Amino acid sequence: MTNYRLLAGKVAFITGASSGIGAAAARVFSREGAAVVLTARREDRLAELTRQLREAGAEASYVVADVTRPEDARRAVAFAVERHGRLDAAFNNAGIGGDRTPLHLMGDDVYDTVMDTNVRGVWNCLRPEIAAMLAGGGGTIVNNSSVAGLVAIPSAAPYLAAKHAVVGLTRAAADEYARQGIRVNAVAPGITRSEITADWFGRNPGLEEMVHAMTPQGRTAEPEEIAETAAWLLSDRSPFLTGAVVPVDGGFVNQ
Ligand code: NDP
Repeated sequence: MTNYRLLAGKVAFITGASSGIGAAAARVFSREGAAVVLTARREDRLAELTRQLREAGAEASYVVADVTRPEDARRAVAFAVERHGRLDAAFNNAGIGGDRTPLHLMGDDVYDTVMDTNVRGVWNCLRPEIAAMLAGGGGTIVNNSSVAGLVAIPSAAPYLAAKHAVVGLTRAAADEYARQGIRVNAVAPGITRSEITADWFGRNPGLEEMVHAMTPQGRTAEPEEIAETAAWLLSDRSPFLTGAVVPVDGGFVNQ
């Protein structure tokens, strides 16, 4: 019988898998048939999620890594390849929100940490992932940008710059490796329930209501809604799609 699961038989590597969209991706990708390799810094979270996935019958493992460190990113990708013999799919999702502050008052340290995690982190992972996929004859990559990679949102300049850079890296990699069987796309989530948004909403009363008012569908996304789109982009069911940035945003950037 044909296996209709989107990621049946694939080996998928997920960064930022300890919470939010990355943890949802771990659940969705394994439900869709992938063997998943999870990474993040918080080992207790990764261990518990891996336990839950295995209990549900999935093939899951984890490796602790800080994506801001190139050697960690290389080690994490190597772990996935050593364990499964190849890498078919990667979701570069790890990221931080940073402060919500007007640009001229923003701390330089915020710029540094946001760029290090959200841009250099993607860069650090992309390179060993692409090398592994070239060795294996191809693969698919999805980077997690944001609606802030497509349009302006207020008081988040480093985050906005970082997420635009993720779009740039996505397009560059898609263009360079299209003829070598590697597709690279990005998702651009709108406001999504996670630790980042809990922190932003907690520190900025009224922000959640404001975002809902600005979103045609008038609500926050569940992390699984982003993960479902990433799963499809990573699957063989989007074969002619590369270099795309797909908004998953309840209509936010369409306005
Ligand atoms: P969470 O805070 O819930 O998840 C962020 C994840 O990134 C965690 O697993 C965290 O794990 C990991 N992470 C952060 N820094 C590092 C690091 N240096 N090394 C390794 N892992 C790291 O937030 P979200 O799920 O919302 O965020 C996921 C992605 O989605 C981010 O790139 C974010 O910018 C993007 N996004 C989110 C939106 C939203 O509204 N929530 C909207 C648009 C985009 P740990 O701390 O264990 O290392």
